[in-house]
Amino acid sequence: MKGNSKSKRKLMLIAALCLGVIVWTGISAVRQSVHAAQTDEQSETETQTLSFENAAYVVDPYVTYTYEQMLKDADELAAMYPGLIEKTVFGYSAEGRQLLCLRLGTGEREIILTGAIHGCEYFAADFLMYLVDRYAYGYAMDEQYSGYSYRALLDQVTLVVAPMLNPDGVNIAQNGPDAAADPQAVRAMAMQGTGYYGWKANANGVDLNRNFPLLWSNYNGITVPSARYYTGPSAASEPETQAVIKLLDSTDYWMLADFHCYGEIIYWQDNYNEITEEYRAIAQRIKAETGFGDAGVEDADSFAGYLQNYARATSGRFAMTVEIGSYWGYDEADFDSAAYPLYVIGLVMADEVAAMAE
Ligand SMILES: [Zn+2]
Repeated sequence: MKGNSKSKRKLMLIAALCLGVIVWTGISAVRQSVHAAQTDEQSETETQTLSFENAAYVVDPYVTYTYEQMLKDADELAAMYPGLIEKTVFGYSAEGRQLLCLRLGTGEREIILTGAIHGCEYFAADFLMYLVDRYAYGYAMDEQYSGYSYRALLDQVTLVVAPMLNPDGVNIAQNGPDAAADPQAVRAMAMQGTGYYGWKANANGVDLNRNFPLLWSNYNGITVPSARYYTGPSAASEPETQAVIKLLDSTDYWMLADFHCYGEIIYWQDNYNEITEEYRAIAQRIKAETGFGDAGVEDADSFAGYLQNYARATSGRFAMTVEIGSYWGYDEADFDSAAYPLYVIGLVMADEVAAMAE
């Protein structure tokens, strides 16, 4: 019996050990598969969410914003935000400067934001570079502004930002005629009542915002190369105008805004293009969220070759001119007072576009 019960206990011990091994193996197998599932989930979210460990503010808006500074900032931003910001050059100015474009966002729907088509209004380039910088940072940190999530919006909509359409004109306005490639030619051009600090045209003395091929011949008050208002020898005669037309043609944009200075006002309708109720509602919302005024209906008999009207006519989309700031010749030290009423504009436009029907 003793021997029997001994061997029974031995058997039971062996059975218990076996069971233990089976249970332990089972548990660790479950553990392993749970761990594997977690790892899968993690790598999936990692590929969906871009991470930017070095995100930091790049643009200093409180200085006179030059073409050179813009290129430097653009390179830094593109390097800091791979997958979120893409830098391209969509053409060259008359003097061979780059026409820069920054694409910000991962969304399919596109919005075009342009600035500084008038040289002396380089404050618009400052503002647009600031928007790209701060919006990208907001995306990286998953922040919100005024109830708008940068990430939610920029994952649905991409902002196609061309901050400086007229770098040669910016150069003349900031540095005078001697900084131009041909100072004598620039000095020979008519001033139309301003100093060089008020230079709007490109280096050929053509006002690019009167050079677009829409009702181009409706304005012919100035017929010689000038600091402002000259429409050019023919519609779309200028390399900058041609490059912008190509950019518009190659972008399936849902909305466009062209930034100028000054007036705290938007131009969004004319008596040439059909204005829908949908566009009326968009303009209403933008005015309400920025506090900007309404320029009213532009008369097709008086406007000529403007970018925004051209964009409206050729795309059928909502297109506007936005006049930043409450006075002319903005002092960059005063950047916040001019920029902050308008800071939300890209988010409001993205929110509108994200909600539009196909
Ligand atoms: Zn302007």
